Amino acid sequence: MKYHESLVESQVILKKALAFLDKHQLAYNPIFYAVAYQHAADCNFLLSEAIKDAEKNDNIDPYMMEQLHREFVDVKKESDDKPLLSLGAAIDGLHESSQKSAEVVEKLDQELNAHKDNNSETIEISSVLNATAAIMAAQDDLHQQVVAAKKQSESIRAELEEAKLQAVTDPLTDLQNRQGLNRKFSELAVLSTESTLFTGILDLDHFKQFNDNFGHLVGDLILKRLARLLREELPFTAHPFRFGGEEFVILVSASKVDEVLKLAEELRIKVEKLRFKSAKTKERLPQLTISIGLSQWNHGEMLEETLVRADEALYRAKNEGRNLVRFSYTEAKDD
Ligand code: GH3
Ligand code: MG
Ligand code: MG
Repeated sequence: MKYHESLVESQVILKKALAFLDKHQLAYNPIFYAVAYQHAADCNFLLSEAIKDAEKNDNIDPYMMEQLHREFVDVKKESDDKPLLSLGAAIDGLHESSQKSAEVVEKLDQELNAHKDNNSETIEISSVLNATAAIMAAQDDLHQQVVAAKKQSESIRAELEEAKLQAVTDPLTDLQNRQGLNRKFSELAVLSTESTLFTGILDLDHFKQFNDNFGHLVGDLILKRLARLLREELPFTAHPFRFGGEEFVILVSASKVDEVLKLAEELRIKVEKLRFKSAKTKERLPQLTISIGLSQWNHGEMLEETLVRADEALYRAKNEGRNLVRFSYTEAKDD
């Protein structure tokens, strides 16, 4: 992100950014400030949209700020330029060696032709040997350069793969993030000829209170444990993602609503059965539960539309007492 404001303009933005941080009782640390500044400067559309959403849900807190920073401010470059530079050098070397090799062959050819033109019967063996030795040396050089270039390109490929993976991985839970969800959804939506795709939003119940009582580090461990449970316990037809904060999304391929309801209910019970102990005091921590909202994807619709219905179902699960699974029975529209 480049900033183009003048000193005076940046002072105005600074005041707005500080007002934003004050309003949400957030510390003036560099991470929160960067988020607030870009929002106040109105220079990062996606960030501002996400902030407006979070404000609507009264959801701006330090965790949300860190997440916004990760997703919209600290956008990682796909990879740094170093490997590309060294591949460039290897290719230059390759070019030079192949030129050298061609020059030697050309010289030899000229010499042989000169002998032919002179109708000379004898060619000095030593001059031919010199020339072939030079060709072999140049070829050897070329081979070394090819090997080096190949190694470089392999390491670049590996780095690109790693960067791609990092871009879709949530660092806390190692689950795929929202970007991964978008990708997987597009993949599954293209493959689905009918509405055989379901979405579920899982939300920890009263997690704020848990964090307030036991601290966010313990809270983070809970999120990791829940992510592990999702990874290990879901069938291969269900894909889990960290949607943000203490919310997870699952995409499930299934032919019947009942299958998905059963899966969600089993998951809810597995979470309910998890037991946590404080590492410090060895005390048993209170039981944690999740609420789940489910919806069926209508063929052709966007991910956001089906998530809105899952969210409505989640809202019902919360309102009706939490630790519940609710389904959005909205009619699937005809294509
Ligand atoms: P509800 O049952 O209605 O969902 O209540 P809740 O307290 O879980 O929901 P609320 O949206 O009020 O608060 C969510 C809390 O989740 C706020 C924050 O303390 C916690 N949280 C969000 N992200 C993280 C995170 O990355 N780590 C930790 N430890 N806590 C987080
Ligand atoms: Mg929530
Ligand atoms: Mg919650």
